[in-house]
Amino acid sequence: MTSPAQTASSPADTGMADIGHWIGGRSAAPAGRKMDVFNPATGRVVRRVVMADTETVSQAVAAASAAFPAWADTPPLRRARVLNGFLALLNEHRDALARRITEEHGKVFSDAQGEVMRGIEVVEFACGVPQLLKGGFTDQVSTGIDNWTIRQPLGVVAGITPFNFPCMVPCWMFPLALATGNTFILKPSERDPSASLFMAELLSRAGLPDGVFNVVQGDKEAVEALLAHPEVKAVSFVGSTPIARHLYQRGAELGKRVQALGGAKNHLVVMPDADVDQAVDGLIGAAYGSAGERCMAISVAVLVGEAADRVVPRLIERTRALKIGNGMDSGVEMGPVVTRAALERIHHYIDAGVREGATLLVDGRGFVAPGHEGGFFLGGTLFDQVRPEMTIYRDEIFGPVLGCVRVADLDAAIQLVNAHPFANGVACYTRDGAVAREFGRRIQVGMVGINVPIPVPMAWHGFGGWKSSLFGDMHAYGEEGVRFYTRQKSIMQRWPQVRGGADFHMPSSK
Ligand code: NAD
Repeated sequence: MTSPAQTASSPADTGMADIGHWIGGRSAAPAGRKMDVFNPATGRVVRRVVMADTETVSQAVAAASAAFPAWADTPPLRRARVLNGFLALLNEHRDALARRITEEHGKVFSDAQGEVMRGIEVVEFACGVPQLLKGGFTDQVSTGIDNWTIRQPLGVVAGITPFNFPCMVPCWMFPLALATGNTFILKPSERDPSASLFMAELLSRAGLPDGVFNVVQGDKEAVEALLAHPEVKAVSFVGSTPIARHLYQRGAELGKRVQALGGAKNHLVVMPDADVDQAVDGLIGAAYGSAGERCMAISVAVLVGEAADRVVPRLIERTRALKIGNGMDSGVEMGPVVTRAALERIHHYIDAGVREGATLLVDGRGFVAPGHEGGFFLGGTLFDQVRPEMTIYRDEIFGPVLGCVRVADLDAAIQLVNAHPFANGVACYTRDGAVAREFGRRIQVGMVGINVPIPVPMAWHGFGGWKSSLFGDMHAYGEEGVRFYTRQKSIMQRWPQVRGGADFHMPSSK
């Protein structure tokens, strides 16, 4: 495989290499089904990814199972030292990784750098695992008896991740899973698979024992094989809602622990007293950054009362002025979308918006980036007079399309947001503390920003939406992540010098 150092010097010049798996500490690329990986900015195939079948998944699980006992027995501080080594390498090679992300995903380079940084922050958090695994101890729960709780790893755990954050989302999972003593199998998105191998090689160079971290490339077949495998004890999933729901239901049937983060439709409410410049900046960056392909992207502007007439003209002007092009070119604010299929899907949604009566203020269809005619580009698109029954309001479009909904007051804004089945992120722009407080308390959404458009929690707070945006009980990373990857054991102990005779009643404190 290409080493990170090679990648650093020539990220876009790696030829048509096949992207394989990483099993038992080495790369593996068995013959079999392959899929093209595109550079979305040029529309050209840059490499191919090998798709794992059930047999390959079994090999990865066998490697992870074999590595588990020794890794689980390794003191947390020593596991943390390996992660510290990984952290140093990740920092050293972060621009090379970001370039690879831009090449396969399309997001602008500075955005890819930001993604890598957010991944790094979770690794930093995981390095504190000795403190996070500290149990609770009660001296003398009864005469001569002590009781304590510890948290132990689950075994082999798997992570299945989406295309839109090929570094950050895997980092929501594996650093904590490894730090807490599990062995891990990553099944990254088949659209931008290179980041997974890049990180696997850095982990290996940091001294992670073979088999502790594995990667299988692939699609539904690999995912189903991972879920069905009896040795896989827990699955973390991030992706679209129908698949998240399916995995959660199937995992429950099989008795597995599953956290499945799904899709989103995030609203940004602008109150009449908001700082209009700040609100417009927030809307433009959050709607069109990463071409709207973020689970925390804002796709609905909820304009309250007279805010609408102040905000809409500014949005038109700013949407038209977006600098769109190859994410590696300086000054570009928005890159292409990930695939031609995504481009077509977004076009259909814009058609539906027009057909169903929304007012199309800025039409991104037909945008061509000069010099990149084969790329999967779309201009920023802006609708006004969007209503809740419209397809473009109900569905997650996952592209650079912003819809404005006009409402009379704060109550109507809160009702609108709370009625939507997705509940990942939300923001409210206001200068009124009472409004901010009321909004934060009444809104039924997992992550809330007050004058912050994309309130992705820091590594120690945990990430997760509500309703159709997350199936499962625990959020990703943070202390909930530690709980997800461990199970609690309670130990009660006394030594022979304390004798009390046989007890035939329920024991209580004596
Ligand atoms: P996706 O659901 O198509 O794919 C996610 C993963 O599931 C990939 O690894 C893919 O290979 C696998 N997969 C695809 N089809 C499958 C099937 N039928 N059965 C089993 N596995 C399957 O999602 P995507 O297009 O890669 O990513 C975009 C989606 O992810 C959006 O809906 C976005 O909102 C969501 N997302 C959510 C969060 C969050 O934190 N809630 C974060 C990032 C992305």
